[in-house]
Amino acid sequence: MVEKIDHIGIAVKNLNESLRVFEEILGLKSIGLETVTDQKVKVAFIPVGESEIELLESTEPDGAIAKFIEKNGEGIQHIAFRVDNIEKVLEDLKAQKVRLIDEKPRKGAGGARIAFIHPKATNGVLIELCERT
Ligand code: ZN
Repeated sequence: MVEKIDHIGIAVKNLNESLRVFEEILGLKSIGLETVTDQKVKVAFIPVGESEIELLESTEPDGAIAKFIEKNGEGIQHIAFRVDNIEKVLEDLKAQKVRLIDEKPRKGAGGARIAFIHPKATNGVLIELCERT
């Protein structure tokens, strides 16, 4: 059901400063910025091998990323697994009574279709399912 780790999401206070750190210290290059209004975030993706790092800065004080930073400080916020049929995976999880944040896919950065599994169901780790076309 899972093909690979699509990306690791990191909550940051300042996207441009964090990008500079990843680019200067690790020599990585981002592939563009995007605002996802639905999720109240500005996002930058940094390819690393076959996966990516997703840096997330909140655009609103009441956004999920702002709340995460308030509670935990900056750091890894979620891990995203690539799936090829997100509806099917969600149906399977529902059948197993796994607690979900999203019962239906929503639109994520880069035109992906995404859904989150509740961290209470996965040892405290927020897991994103991510289908790309
Ligand atoms: Zn993500």
